[in-house]
Amino acid sequence: MALIPSPANDSLDVSSPLAADAPLDAYAWGEEFDDLVALAARVADAPFAWIALSDGEARPRVVARFGLDASLDTALLALGASLNAEVPRLTVPDAADDACFVSEPVVAAYPGIRFLHAQALLGEHGRHVGTLAIADRSARAAAGRDVVQALTRVAGLGERLIERHRLQRRNRIATQIMQAGFSAMIVTDEHGQVTLANRAAELLFGIRGRRMRGMPVEVLFPSQLQSDALASHTWLHAEDGDALLGRAPQCRLHAFGPNGDVRALEATRCTWRLGQGHGKAIILRDITDDLAQQATLRQLALYDALTGLPNRTALVEALTARLEATETPVALALLGLDNFKTINDTLGHAAGDIVLQATASRLRMTLPANAQVGRFGGDEFGVLFTDIDTVDLPVHLERMLLAVNEPMDVTGSPIHLEASVGLAVREDLHSEDSLPNASELIARADLALYKAKARGGRQWCRYDLGMRREVIDRRLLEVELRRAFARGEFELHYQPQIDLANGFTFGAEALLRWRHPERGLLAPAAFLDVLAGSALANDVGRWIIRQACRDAASWPEVGGRRIAISINLFPGQVHETDLRHDVDEALRETGLPAEQLELEITETIALKPDDNASRALASLRDRGVKLSFDDFGTGFASLSMLQRFPIDRVKIDRSFVRDMLDNRGDAAIVRSIVLISRNMELHVTAEGVENHAQAELLRGIGCNAAQGFLYSPALAPQAFEKWLAAQTSNPMQAPWLLTEQHDG
Ligand code: C2E
Ligand code: CA
Ligand code: CA
Repeated sequence: MALIPSPANDSLDVSSPLAADAPLDAYAWGEEFDDLVALAARVADAPFAWIALSDGEARPRVVARFGLDASLDTALLALGASLNAEVPRLTVPDAADDACFVSEPVVAAYPGIRFLHAQALLGEHGRHVGTLAIADRSARAAAGRDVVQALTRVAGLGERLIERHRLQRRNRIATQIMQAGFSAMIVTDEHGQVTLANRAAELLFGIRGRRMRGMPVEVLFPSQLQSDALASHTWLHAEDGDALLGRAPQCRLHAFGPNGDVRALEATRCTWRLGQGHGKAIILRDITDDLAQQATLRQLALYDALTGLPNRTALVEALTARLEATETPVALALLGLDNFKTINDTLGHAAGDIVLQATASRLRMTLPANAQVGRFGGDEFGVLFTDIDTVDLPVHLERMLLAVNEPMDVTGSPIHLEASVGLAVREDLHSEDSLPNASELIARADLALYKAKARGGRQWCRYDLGMRREVIDRRLLEVELRRAFARGEFELHYQPQIDLANGFTFGAEALLRWRHPERGLLAPAAFLDVLAGSALANDVGRWIIRQACRDAASWPEVGGRRIAISINLFPGQVHETDLRHDVDEALRETGLPAEQLELEITETIALKPDDNASRALASLRDRGVKLSFDDFGTGFASLSMLQRFPIDRVKIDRSFVRDMLDNRGDAAIVRSIVLISRNMELHVTAEGVENHAQAELLRGIGCNAAQGFLYSPALAPQAFEKWLAAQTSNPMQAPWLLTEQHDG
């Protein structure tokens, strides 16, 4: 229901305020100009007079004429064409005798003009805006001085008329713009009654301006709609001191809209003195939609869309509020699903979503009323316990673990979820313990969760001070490692790999060392754990590949064979970096043939289902790079895995080799690994071979390669080159072969 014509339908174009300065519209001029040309003819005692307007780029146009009709307009314009701001006046005593004018139609034919006097009309800034002209059928000696003076006065009148029109037009447009404005505005008098309402206000309230006039202003803002009726009333009737024109603070008002719906309005007040009282304008902005949007945004900002649980932000807010509000213990538990990633990767994201939703509802049902559960992100849920006896916490945590562990039916197949929980408690305010704030408490719970997972998962773990120390130490070490890498303190040492059939060195494993400025040469045990877990691992890993390839490319052949290089990979190198690219670069840069490079992967790499990683490894293998399975037998990797994963070599972990002579179980394991590997045409290397008996046994069961202190520990690059040189000159001199013969 459109109550008012929209501004677009209005006859005046108000689309641009510049319209006020647009060329003067000749059609808009009224009878004043007709009077003016009549006056001009009269004072000059001439039969003809006319006014032409020309402004800016617009074509000049005759707007009023005396003694002439409109059919001659075009011909008349030609007569005054030479006038402008610089040449403001023109007198032609006898046009029939004037070469410039003699052939003009109005001279040569009807009405046969002979005498012509024209005067420029100047507007704002002396701009030429038009011409006033009089003409006669008979020639005159000259325009008399009186006539010229009188005409100048008439021209002055014309100029003022034009100026007034221009200003009127500008004002009209300003009003139009005000009316068309987006803000609704009502003006009230000193009695608080509406005196004026603009179009936007009419639309806002759905009441015509005429009807609004005289209404007490509070009729528009019914008190039952206001959130604070008294405050609204006060605001509406306030008189802003003695200020003549001042802006008062804004106020949130409510009113009925055209459809009876309640609109929220942001009101600004403007007051001025009016007689004995005050008049005021109230400018209103409809913020109903903004508020609705804000509410939606807030909903989005505080709730997790998938589970409908409060999200991390909401839970942190609640935690912060509780910590401030209460003196009693506050506990935060973080629950993480141990095997969520596997489920997501193997069953798909839709199944993953169902699992998360089911977990959410199970937690909600299991937890007591004073526990608030939210989704913390990914596969983590947070539970905030308040007003709780801390001795009861273990029971709740156990219940949470059990609830999650119940088999779950997702897409027809039962799933067993496993979860870990980290717990952090802020004891009551009188406890000895330092009092953590929200983010600290979260960090502690997070740490405890990490511990619970590191201990194998399916359990809960409570934060203690030792964990904190551990974290600080790790963090310090991380910083130190970063510096060490930048300073080039890392080195690669090489441990020879021996062909058990002939005693030749056929390869070397690159092993990382840290030449610590104070602590000397450090083996990986002192830092690898932290390094592998930090972001630095990818950079160091890349450097290891390049450095090892560079060294290997320079090694001499032994027994007619090139020495291969084995490189250990960090899990992150396979899953996060572009391993293919890094390896390609290193090979290209160093000229090492791909066949001479072997990458050692552990089961943490191989077991993690990651299509990208598998693809990268497979394509590296396609171009000749070898893959070996490191530390085989220590984890969950089964022999059947060997079939699924495209590898070239199995490295039997040294724990089996160590105990194989005394422990028949270990010996059996080693034997079957060798047997199966050979069956599958995989190479087998035994790690940690420390004595001849081990070497003999291994050779006896068909293991074709070994590595260990019996032959050599990892050697610095130069020492390793010496080692190779000795082998090249006389491989049979290898000490283990000699002693072996003695051992007989
Ligand atoms: P790993 O890959 O199993 O490497 C073999 C480890 O066994 C090396 O320890 C080596 O010095 C040691 N070793 C070799 N022969 C014997 C022996 O006869 N007896 C005993 N007791 N030990 C022997 P290291 O150099 O301390 O490296 C430890 C682990 O650190 C490596 O185990 C590997 O997992 C990791 N690592 C070492 N260097 C790198 C590297 O450059 N990159 C990556 N990602 N990991 C590395
Ligand atoms: Ca290794
Ligand atoms: Ca190993």
